Amino acid sequence: MNAGAPKPGGPGADEARWHQLEAREAAERLGANPTRGLTSAESARRLDQHGPNALVERGARSVWAIAWEQVGATMILLLVAAAVISAALGDTTDAIAILTIVVLNVALGFHQEFKAERAIEALRSLSVPTVRVRRDGVVREVPATELVPGDVMLLEAGNVVAADGRILQAVNLRTQEAPLTGESMAVDKSTSPMPETDAPVTPGERLNMVFMGTAVVHGRGLAIVTGTGMDTELGSIATMLQSVRRDPTPLQRRLDQLGRRLAVVALAIVAVIFALGLARGEPMRLMFLTAVSMAVAAVPEGLPAVVTIALALGSQRMLGRRALIRKLAAVETLGSVSVICSDKTGTLTQNRMTVTELETAGQRVAFAEGSRPSLEGWLVDDGVPGDGPDRGLALLLAGVALCNDAEPASESADTVGDPTETALVTAAAHAGLDRARLEASFPRTAEVPFESERKRMTTVHRLPAASVPLADALRRMPPGDDATGTVTYVAFTKGAADGLLALTRYTWTGDAIAPADAAERERLARAHDRLAGSGMRVLGVGMRVFAGVPPHEPVTLERDMVFLGLVGLVDPPRAEARDAVATCAAAGIRPVMITGDHPLTAVNIAHQLGIATGDRVVTGADLEGMPPAALGTEVETASVYARVSPAHKLAIVDALQARGHIVAMTGDGVNDAPALKKANIGVAMGLVGSDVSRESADIVLLDDNFATIVAAVEEGRVIYDNIRKFVRYLLTTNSGELWLMLIAPLLGMPLPLLPLQILWINLVTDGPPALTLGVEPAERGVMKRRPYPPGESVFARGLGLHVLWVGVLMGALTLGVGYAYWRAGDPAWQTMVFTTLAFAQMAHVMAIRAEMESTLAIGLLSNRWLAAAVAGTILLQLTVVYVPALNEVFNTVPLSPPALALCAGLAVVVFAAVELEKWATRRLGR
Ligand code: ADP
Ligand code: MG
Repeated sequence: MNAGAPKPGGPGADEARWHQLEAREAAERLGANPTRGLTSAESARRLDQHGPNALVERGARSVWAIAWEQVGATMILLLVAAAVISAALGDTTDAIAILTIVVLNVALGFHQEFKAERAIEALRSLSVPTVRVRRDGVVREVPATELVPGDVMLLEAGNVVAADGRILQAVNLRTQEAPLTGESMAVDKSTSPMPETDAPVTPGERLNMVFMGTAVVHGRGLAIVTGTGMDTELGSIATMLQSVRRDPTPLQRRLDQLGRRLAVVALAIVAVIFALGLARGEPMRLMFLTAVSMAVAAVPEGLPAVVTIALALGSQRMLGRRALIRKLAAVETLGSVSVICSDKTGTLTQNRMTVTELETAGQRVAFAEGSRPSLEGWLVDDGVPGDGPDRGLALLLAGVALCNDAEPASESADTVGDPTETALVTAAAHAGLDRARLEASFPRTAEVPFESERKRMTTVHRLPAASVPLADALRRMPPGDDATGTVTYVAFTKGAADGLLALTRYTWTGDAIAPADAAERERLARAHDRLAGSGMRVLGVGMRVFAGVPPHEPVTLERDMVFLGLVGLVDPPRAEARDAVATCAAAGIRPVMITGDHPLTAVNIAHQLGIATGDRVVTGADLEGMPPAALGTEVETASVYARVSPAHKLAIVDALQARGHIVAMTGDGVNDAPALKKANIGVAMGLVGSDVSRESADIVLLDDNFATIVAAVEEGRVIYDNIRKFVRYLLTTNSGELWLMLIAPLLGMPLPLLPLQILWINLVTDGPPALTLGVEPAERGVMKRRPYPPGESVFARGLGLHVLWVGVLMGALTLGVGYAYWRAGDPAWQTMVFTTLAFAQMAHVMAIRAEMESTLAIGLLSNRWLAAAVAGTILLQLTVVYVPALNEVFNTVPLSPPALALCAGLAVVVFAAVELEKWATRRLGR
């Protein structure tokens, strides 16, 4: 950048008044060439100088914040206090042991939280959007964070603007600047400089600037970056954004609430135990330590954190299956999805469009290799290919190549354009009509962009003065009956044929134009239906010539057209989508196809995929004005929607939700955002979608594939199942311990477990075995059952009952063996209670690995992590029982082999009992 240039940047004292400069002048000051962009070297240098283009975020919670939260947990503090009191009273071994366990507890909690935090961070960094910029003279797609002042960015409908910039080119460019101005009406943008004033101009008033965070809702344009990162208008108000809190997911909130309630119950029971102990004359200090340890063990404080980890790990697994989670809450909702509304094009089909058939002037042209016409002569100055039958074809193909925004693929950058348009460019090129050459001879002077509401687009081109046969052919056309003179402009329109026919007045007969009479329209409709009925996407192509500059307004521009013909594009269904549809059927999920294409095309593809069998198809027009009641019954049964606009999608989501469905809805366009937001799971496309749709979505499909949605649903179910397993395990454990401690004194026994033993059990059971439940693989039946309602009680489907009765069983077994040994005067009685309880919990965790199936059927070792955790825990328990030094600390005695075998045997009883419960449930289920 030259030395005297103003500092690029947003609002500051020496702010460059970019909006008052001519576009050219702004580019000059920024040291950038608008047509070539920056060089890679220069952009790298500037990136160094200005730093990444990102708002400085409040960021993840710091390590210290997480650590403090763990330490701060009241229970832990109480425990520390208790240990200190112990030490003061001279019981140092106990104090040190307790403190060690507290440290281990904190470390475990810290590890969990930290892991969850990192996983969420990793996800966030993945959703960095990309921007198309000109660099080194070509269009490149770069991460938005690498944008620098002076970069020339390409803007198109659907983009979220990645930095502040001065507009260099605006074609019907309109942006929505609500994030900055709060105004939701879109603003028309232009390139003209604004008059110099001293009065401050608000961002909203700078019509020749675009701003970070605003959305391009219409048209396209070019802008040169004037400010990045915190040097943007958004950056200057970003302090507001930074305080946005990360909200807990619904499940987290519910579990948090449940945890609190259970804590109250547990603390009440602990109070009873404490009182009973004192009444029986136990020393105050022992009872106090016992009560606090019990409280630590029985309060399920780890519940919400473990859910975070399960969700975060789950979202990583989903990423492995090509679904990027943007909102963590989506992970838990996914499993409950009951209807998946999917776009057809690109999601259910491959989006590999190929032109296979053309139809012009009643002539069918199969467009396969070998049979393609050669039309190159039409573009050669004085090439005179004659006025043969190819003329209509040349006009048709030139029309679709010109009325087209596909970026020609270059060697250094293969841009992903709209596959429909790319296919048209390819088809024209195969017939010898090169788009770049066409563009050079027939420069575009105006356009009406494609919109999914209108389902068509129009471009206007100036004819070359030179004697190019194609131009000559156009010049010989009559310029409409209301004008005379030489034809100087041509407009091409392509789009949905039904809509186009309505704007048509003439038709191409092969060598002339003639009024399109009823018979001709009838013939065109039949030709269209034949193509669409075979599953093709069909585009109609219209043309109009002008003697002078054509009108601007779409209504006056797009009328009295000459219908040139039809283009049929094949887009085969995805093979994996077919399987995914079948999976949906088994899983109680209804797949619904929603497309902007013609009903016949939609039905054909729906049949191929197995989404529908009949001919039933609902069109957008059918939906309009339908009373809510009728709409409700309609959406309950319809599986195929055609000729649908984004607004209809919103209506469909609404109606489905009103009937209690949990709806996943895909969308890629700018206007799909409301439907995506309304849906329970908004699904955006990673390859072809607009930034706006991605920002509104809950998940993004990296491969745009319907099957990926179904895979994500499956993962969602697995994760939910695993969270439930964790809850089941944790609560049953606690329930068992509480029964044990509560009943023992009633039998006249001393405290069955000492404080340290309670803490030990809590540590080893809450730790690895619980965490490894989170990686339990899918149960065989996950996609063979109906979805569970998302708001179902945590205790639903027998979980509450399980916690109670298995808790009682565990308490009874441990207490029973302890009581027998105690009555016999065996000093090992407490060690028996301690070890049986530890083993029983390991047996329990193995038994609940599968909710329905037998653990033996899925294989004892099929979750290696859990198997290792269980083995490790058993080993640790044995150390505590058999290592002499630890005997003293934990007050244990070495058990004889038969005694140890008895502990193990009782654990097997717990395992068998839970297996029996599952067996009974399976029987009842059938
Ligand atoms: P889908 O929901 O299946 O993606 P679209 O909304 O993209 O459908 O397209 C709906 C209709 O609009 C198509 O059947 C076609 O007639 C027309 N159309 C699609 N893409 C274009 C385009 N790039 N230019 C003109 N017309 C188009
Ligand atoms: Mg589309």
